[in-house]
Amino acid sequence: MSDFPASYYAATANDDARHPHLVGDISADVCVVGGGYTGISAALHLAERGYDVVLLEEMRAGWGASGRNGGQICTAFNKSMAHIEGLVGKEGAQICWQIERESKDLIRDRVQQHKIDCDLKWGYLHTAVKPSHMSGINETRDEWARYGYEDTAVLDKSALQERLGTGIYHGALWEGNAGHLHPLNYALGLARAAAEAGVRIFEDSRVIKLEAGTNPVVSTAHGTVKARFVVTAGNAYLGKLVPSLYHRVMPVGSFIVATEPLSGERARSLIRDNDAISDTNFIVDYYRLSADRRMLFGGRANYSGYEPKDLFSYMRPRMLKVFPQLADAKLEYAWGGNIAITLDRMPHMGSIGGNVFFAHGYCGHGVALSGMSGKLIADAIAGTAERFDVLARIKHQPFPGGPIRTPMLALGMLYYRIRDILS
Ligand SMILES: Cc1cc2nc3c(=O)[nH]c(=O)nc-3n(C[C@H](O)[C@H](O)[C@H](O)COP(=O)(O)OP(=O)(O)OC[C@H]3O[C@@H](n4cnc5c(N)ncnc54)[C@H](O)[C@@H]3O)c2cc1C
Repeated sequence: MSDFPASYYAATANDDARHPHLVGDISADVCVVGGGYTGISAALHLAERGYDVVLLEEMRAGWGASGRNGGQICTAFNKSMAHIEGLVGKEGAQICWQIERESKDLIRDRVQQHKIDCDLKWGYLHTAVKPSHMSGINETRDEWARYGYEDTAVLDKSALQERLGTGIYHGALWEGNAGHLHPLNYALGLARAAAEAGVRIFEDSRVIKLEAGTNPVVSTAHGTVKARFVVTAGNAYLGKLVPSLYHRVMPVGSFIVATEPLSGERARSLIRDNDAISDTNFIVDYYRLSADRRMLFGGRANYSGYEPKDLFSYMRPRMLKVFPQLADAKLEYAWGGNIAITLDRMPHMGSIGGNVFFAHGYCGHGVALSGMSGKLIADAIAGTAERFDVLARIKHQPFPGGPIRTPMLALGMLYYRIRDILS
């Protein structure tokens, strides 16, 4: 039986439910491939609508990015609303904004409805690493205000230092409708809700073949599922299962360390109001406190496809650059996982042949957006595809480079790393 990779989240998981692996030939209305937020959310919404749903997960539900991420509930997409207006028009952008708003409400509602114990907390700081980045911070505040989001405040350097125990930033955008949670416990809570709603979840059940067509068949090593609809939700872990999707998303490694628990006073001296934080670099640092007051510090995207051997010493200098006062804090956990990125940094959603739906490539904004795309897929399968279609009509180019796309991307990212240092 597979298990979660070692992490602070795995060590503090509050649900040990296991599901059997698929043996034999079964059928369902919908077969979902992948047990992260996207897949579980799609399955849960479909089951609530009365569909008979089977979910196949290669490892354990929550094993992928959904059980390992920074837990940061970010606002908006990876791109500005002005960029999105250029892609889908002003009306389409309004719908995208509404989707974004609803993605946070969905988290609130699911946590409340299913009593998911996942340390949900609101409050977020986007910190400017260069004085020149403050103009971008102001533009973002103004753009969000034009879309009706006013629960924000621009902080100058000294106002920020009252909230954050570091002097390295030049100001920040604070917002009230973004925050953080324990990602694995949220995933496990959703999986429990899905199972209770009637979804048949199978773990240790890697899908090795997907035969599309009028009557799709999904195969694992020990069984098959015949379904009217298939949802592929493997995100950065999907590999080449659906060849036409392979070149449109790339896995990128991201890493997190967790310190030992800090005293209440020390934790407050670092992040006064328990906000989540990310900075304005292209390759972002993101961090927050856990419920037991550890510093969870993430970042250092790795585009080479290889996980660094010693994650503790790989991540420690980044954390100490922000908080040198943590030099004596023991690091107790280090882990990594794959984020799926797309070339234009917008999520990639759509359908193949009208009955195989997919959504992936949230580019580091998936904690909120992936649950929402599961809902949009469920709506589309049930016949209401207007909102799904707005995102599905965004054209996504394949990553260039064919078989050498990974080294090409690593080279491209080196440029951005240098730009982060110089700009
Ligand atoms: C280290 C890290 C930090 C991150 N931090 C943040 C953050 O702070 N905020 C944020 O918004 N986003 C963050 N993200 C991204 C976020 O976690 C993802 O966007 C989100 O979890 C995507 O959910 P998903 O369900 O689409 O994919 P996943 O959670 O990756 O789930 C995909 C699942 O599909 C399964 N699968 C794949 N192929 C098959 C197959 N053939 N058969 C059966 N099962 C299969 C995998 O085993 C996996 O469990 C982070 C990601 C990582 C890795």
